[in-house]
Amino acid sequence: MTSHNKIDKTDVIIVGAGLTGLTTAYWLKRSGKKVRVVEIDNRIGGQIQTQRFNHYIYETGPSTGAVSTPEVAELMNDLADTSQGGCQIETAPDAAKRRLIWKGKRFWELPSGPLSAIFTPLFRFSDKLRILGEPWRKRGNNPNESVGALAARRLGQSFVDYAVDPFISGVYAGNPYTLVTRYALPRLYALERDYGSFIRGAIAKRKQPKTDRDRLATKEVFSARGGLSHIPQAEADYIGMDNISLGVSDVRVSPEGQGWTIVFLDAYGNEQQLQSRWVVTTCGAYNLPELLPFIDKERMDAIAELKYSPIIEVNVGMPETFGGDYCAFGGLVPTKEKRQILGILFPSACFTGRAPKGGALFSFYLGGVRNSEMMDKTDDEIRAIVTQNLHTMLKFPAQAKPDFIHISRHQLAIPQYDINSGRRFSAVESLEHQYHGLILGGNLRDGIGMWHRITQAANIAKRIIMSE
Ligand SMILES: Cc1cc2nc3c(=O)[nH]c(=O)nc-3n(C[C@H](O)[C@H](O)[C@H](O)COP(=O)(O)OP(=O)(O)OC[C@H]3O[C@@H](n4cnc5c(N)ncnc54)[C@H](O)[C@@H]3O)c2cc1C
Repeated sequence: MTSHNKIDKTDVIIVGAGLTGLTTAYWLKRSGKKVRVVEIDNRIGGQIQTQRFNHYIYETGPSTGAVSTPEVAELMNDLADTSQGGCQIETAPDAAKRRLIWKGKRFWELPSGPLSAIFTPLFRFSDKLRILGEPWRKRGNNPNESVGALAARRLGQSFVDYAVDPFISGVYAGNPYTLVTRYALPRLYALERDYGSFIRGAIAKRKQPKTDRDRLATKEVFSARGGLSHIPQAEADYIGMDNISLGVSDVRVSPEGQGWTIVFLDAYGNEQQLQSRWVVTTCGAYNLPELLPFIDKERMDAIAELKYSPIIEVNVGMPETFGGDYCAFGGLVPTKEKRQILGILFPSACFTGRAPKGGALFSFYLGGVRNSEMMDKTDDEIRAIVTQNLHTMLKFPAQAKPDFIHISRHQLAIPQYDINSGRRFSAVESLEHQYHGLILGGNLRDGIGMWHRITQAANIAKRIIMSE
């Protein structure tokens, strides 16, 4: 290792070149700020990673996002304009809106309206009647009620088992009885708190006047043409690779006068120093103790104890479909059904170019907090489970053979917003209050999906720009 000790000055240092870090850097650069991004991996994108095999394009991290806030639409529109390489956002067609739930020996469509809800075999008859009475059910009084308990109280147990539980598996790979509603699903929590009922709240919200900007939040499912990696790539192209240091190590942040110093080893082992007015961290909670050694143990423990679910994602390319109907977003599996699969997405039904003509791409998800022992299985065992379910769940005939099976393992995939989240959020708030110019971003707060990350990044950038 050679020592260099050159000190560069910049406006904002961002730790992590995932979606949060690059989106924050993108908006800051758009408004004329000098930014530097440091990243320990030797590639950009963080959890986002698109891969190719022959004529298949598949994701080994997140697969689809949702246009749930205007910030998401604004980023997508802006990238389409500024991106040299062309980052074109693609939204899933209506046909791919169908969501399936496994019960018994097959997938059933999740009801999308009152009529289909009456006839679905997914929920008990008594719970269908119970849902009709939801607007008049008493408000809860436990602010720390779990998602499972809240939904059971308002909608009935079969609704929890066959709608909420698989939804939580699909989004959090989590347990509905340990995720606390006000932290994990704050919009749902607010419906009961503010309107006394999910149904009354949803109706009232629909009637509220909307600005043109509000209407940008279409809730559509999105990806990018050619795969999600085009999003961080387009952001990095705009930020400029000169401003992004990849493959760094031993990163340490410390307060220095009115600002911040960050010291790290670059990809060649040379020590580098940066100074800035602001530092934004976007990495996992487990990375923070080493990165921010000046923080007291009590508050750091409250942040770093955050638990993450483990996920195994298996992409399977099928050269033909043998007449099967795979025109849906995908299927989720309730815990009660005791299968080894959390869910299966059908990306080739949602987006163009994901599989060769006549073929199909499937993404299987295994593991999660309730099946973490899956992580101990060998690749051969995982391949055997997926192949078996290709036939039993997706009904491919015995002679059907995949073109490829790709396994990706994520030990620390999705943060679990459980009962300890309040302590974590308070610690973050008090640290940001005490240390001016320090922002602790990333998915340890403000939500776990890509839309949350994009929204948080836009807000962090706004906060920095407004306070200058
Ligand atoms: C298997 C899987 C499936 C998912 N599916 C979906 C989905 O379908 N839809 C959806 O909306 N969301 C999904 N998500 C969540 C989504 O991927 C994340 O919300 C999002 O990608 C997180 O972006 P981020 O930038 O906050 O974090 P990350 O992508 O984790 O980026 C953080 C970066 O910080 C870097 N870093 C860490 N420590 C340091 C350090 N000391 N110095 C410098 N850099 C550091 C890391 O290397 C990393 O690149 C999924 C996640 C996983 C794992």
